[in-house]
Amino acid sequence: MTEFQQIERKQITFGGKPVPVAVVHPLDRASKAPSVLKGLVRGMRLTLGYFLRPWKVVTRQYPENRQTLRFPQRYRAMLTMIHDSQGFHRCTACKLCEKACPNGSIRVITQKGLLEGVNKLDQYIWRMDSCLLCNACVQACPFGALKMTHSFENAVYDRRLLVYNLNRYAGPPAKVLAAEPDTAKRRQMMEPRGRFDGPLPLNEGLKPVLAKTQESPVRETSA
Ligand code: SF4
Ligand code: SF4
Repeated sequence: MTEFQQIERKQITFGGKPVPVAVVHPLDRASKAPSVLKGLVRGMRLTLGYFLRPWKVVTRQYPENRQTLRFPQRYRAMLTMIHDSQGFHRCTACKLCEKACPNGSIRVITQKGLLEGVNKLDQYIWRMDSCLLCNACVQACPFGALKMTHSFENAVYDRRLLVYNLNRYAGPPAKVLAAEPDTAKRRQMMEPRGRFDGPLPLNEGLKPVLAKTQESPVRETSA
């Protein structure tokens, strides 16, 4: 019921028995007027209050405030692979995140062969266009290789540009690379990966749905 309605309670006879019922009557204009005026005054008072005390305004002036934007800690906008100061990631290509993803938004492509008993990651493909940002992949990763960031300005005109390659290099994870003391050898083990080269079936058995694009959808991912 709203304040513009009136309820009449009465009893009717149904099947020979008295039954309590409520009948709703809309109010006429004259009866509505006090409530309408009260609402108007309340709204004007709020507006005037914000006009006189602008520091109380909660609306943020985006994009002017881009530099000072603050997000709640748990806000999630983009899946990112963590890279340390030396550019190493921790992904062992175990595919647990891929299995945890409820809608096939992740495809972990491994390189053939094993290196010191560890899988080598080739490409870590993430589809932002279907991602729910549910965080299940981050939680499933036993190596803490993924995280969610606040990077939310991701609008594009072509949804194919929402397919990202998250790893900066193909090769073994940080643990294996750190054990190699020779920097030159270490660099040889890391093939640069900067862009997604589709098309690629993101679920087993599905035909490729993504055409190759000229523009790279890949952006720098921060550690
Ligand atoms: S956040 Fe959820 S939907 Fe998105 S890739 Fe991770 S598991 Fe899949
Ligand atoms: S991100 Fe984590 S869970 Fe996913 S393949 Fe890499 S190591 Fe495994």
